[in-house]
Amino acid sequence: MDMQSTKAENLDLFVNAQLQFKRALTWIDDLKAGIVDYLINPNRTIHVRFPIHMDDESIQTFHGFRVLHNRVRGPGKGGIRYHPDVTEAEVSALAAFMTWKTAVVDLPFGGGKGGIVCNPKELSRGELRRITRRFVTELGDAIGPYTDIPAPDVYTDQQTMAWIYDTFDMMHPGENNLAVVTGKPLDIGGSVGRNEATAKGSLFATQQLLKRGVVAGLPAVQDARVAIQGFGNAGGTAARLFYEDGARIVAVSDSQGGIGLDSGIDPNKVLAHKKKHGSVVGFPGCTDISNEELLAYDCDILIPAALECQIRADNANNVKARLIVEAANGPLTMAADENLQSKNILVLPDIVANSGGVVVSYFEWVQNLENQQWDLEKVEKLLKKRMTRAVDETVDRWTALDEKYRSGFNGSHSGPNLRDAALVTAIKRIATVVLQRDIWP
Ligand code: NAD
Repeated sequence: MDMQSTKAENLDLFVNAQLQFKRALTWIDDLKAGIVDYLINPNRTIHVRFPIHMDDESIQTFHGFRVLHNRVRGPGKGGIRYHPDVTEAEVSALAAFMTWKTAVVDLPFGGGKGGIVCNPKELSRGELRRITRRFVTELGDAIGPYTDIPAPDVYTDQQTMAWIYDTFDMMHPGENNLAVVTGKPLDIGGSVGRNEATAKGSLFATQQLLKRGVVAGLPAVQDARVAIQGFGNAGGTAARLFYEDGARIVAVSDSQGGIGLDSGIDPNKVLAHKKKHGSVVGFPGCTDISNEELLAYDCDILIPAALECQIRADNANNVKARLIVEAANGPLTMAADENLQSKNILVLPDIVANSGGVVVSYFEWVQNLENQQWDLEKVEKLLKKRMTRAVDETVDRWTALDEKYRSGFNGSHSGPNLRDAALVTAIKRIATVVLQRDIWP
């Protein structure tokens, strides 16, 4: 490992998000001066600290956040994460990604994100329920169907969303409150297809990207060798869907470690193993590997689908994939981005690659407001249309930026990448609305 580059690199996710944003800005020559500071920083950050009675009758104080990054295009939208490493900087960065993501897939939403510093693996269901309900009560009207709408993220699920809805509904009796949160169970206003939406969106996006012929020698998902980090909602489902589309899943991992098998793994069997043993590790017939080895696995497509800052200055050189599909938010640092670009390894950025989740969350919100229930065929058709369009617009913008660069446009770096292209689209859309609404008062 290159210790020097690790030392030099800043792994603060918000710093990396700002670097991405500033890099994209170098491709925009008509942004109104003065607007940048507003677009880059969160509009509002709420900190809450609250006590909870634990099962053993002790009292523990928890710290939670809700960041509303921007809502100029519509209410804030973004998940709630339960993890011991949650920080204000992380939640702020994730909220910024949501603003850019909703803009790039053209949803009438802004960006938000929340988190509670806790370790769900050490908490009982009752403790999690009390933490969730108290958090929602503390947030009060900072969340709501037309203000800021939470969803699931790392270590929160349908049950968490059901508690959020129920608590908010208790606080606002007599109203249709379903649209306050998405990712709910089907029986309480959830949408069919929401559970699989993030991974399905990643698959649709990858299919379209490869169809555009941008990865030499890799025309389709079929027969591609795929390695996936993270085996939860995003990663585990992606493993299954890519497998069903004909890909060979050669390695997968979770927080305990990973497994590899060059001839291919059946993700359905790995899922059953994980359910029984708590991890993918130890799945019969495979070699146990570390998460570092997974990222360096010999494959065509690498899908980081766990946490942020996984591919950095110190390990980007080890990546052997030809394409990285960011199912997780912020899995690559800025230094990794630049390293991979210099080696012509393409990165489909998170704000496109994992936007399927928020797209179907939007469908859920629309259904809730209209008291409708769509069928799976409709959800998938509309999801595919949006993902395909987002990829096409990103590739088209990338090509246009590249032409600009080749004709001598003064980009301060080595040509555009797909992240620059997606961010330029997002920033332009947001800035247009800021100026069209005009600045109040
Ligand atoms: P999840 O809780 O369902 O799964 C997380 C997975 O990551 C688990 O398998 C866990 O074991 C694994 N993991 C945790 N730490 C790890 C480590 N250090 N190394 C390897 N694996 C590790 O969470 P999720 O919803 O699948 O979210 C994963 C990523 O996808 C996050 O970045 C999240 O923001 C992003 N994302 C999720 C959604 C969604 O709809 N769920 C939407 C967009 C983006």
